[in-house]
Amino acid sequence: MGNREIFDQVSDMEKQIGELYEQLGDLKGRLSDLLEENHRLAVENHNLRNHLDHTEAVAEKSSQKDSAKGSLPGEGYDNLARLYEEGFHICNLEFGSPRRNEDCIFCLDFFDKTK
Ligand SMILES: [Zn+2]
Repeated sequence: MGNREIFDQVSDMEKQIGELYEQLGDLKGRLSDLLEENHRLAVENHNLRNHLDHTEAVAEKSSQKDSAKGSLPGEGYDNLARLYEEGFHICNLEFGSPRRNEDCIFCLDFFDKTK
């Protein structure tokens, strides 16, 4: 192999190394993008999981509250009890009409059921 050929070969290798180096830089950039996205997704997943746990805990708590007072939510029950005390029917038959200071067995039945 003559000196000229050796020189050409070394030049070739230099060119290939240059290209490989460029590709390496390219891959490094893409890897860094992927790591960044992976980190972002991990944080987002963590936040969503927390949110879901919180939502489930709230739903569980409110369903426990509901079952403690029959099928009625606590606030609805309190509103109806107040309405009855103010002198109105809360039963299905006469709902909203005045009781005229008489107890109504259907209204009282409602209280019995929900106790
Ligand atoms: Zn009634």
